[in-house]
Amino acid sequence: MSAPAVRRAVVDRDVCVGAGQCVLAAPDVFDQSDEDGLSYVLVDPLPEELTPSVRDAATRCPARAVQLEAGAGAGAETGAAAETGTGADPAADRQPTGPSPA
Ligand code: SF4
Repeated sequence: MSAPAVRRAVVDRDVCVGAGQCVLAAPDVFDQSDEDGLSYVLVDPLPEELTPSVRDAATRCPARAVQLEAGAGAGAETGAAAETGTGADPAADRQPTGPSPA
């Protein structure tokens, strides 16, 4: 049996780092603000046919900022990236700026 349809997607803008992976994966669902570069959701509720792309977006998000809510009767679903086990750490994208002072 396939996973339930996603009814709603939410971007946690407190943790979004503006990587844009969600926009690449689901351009019909997400866009990035011209002001701060952070992602926001374009459609709410989501049409069922966008479930695969929005799940892909949640999986790709390096900050795990995309949270998904399943359809009625399926219960809430948060942290879809965690569900798919990417193990992404937002800090992993940050490179050291130079050698640490001794
Ligand atoms: S992929 Fe994640 S971190 Fe990047 S813009 Fe989308 S929500 Fe933000």
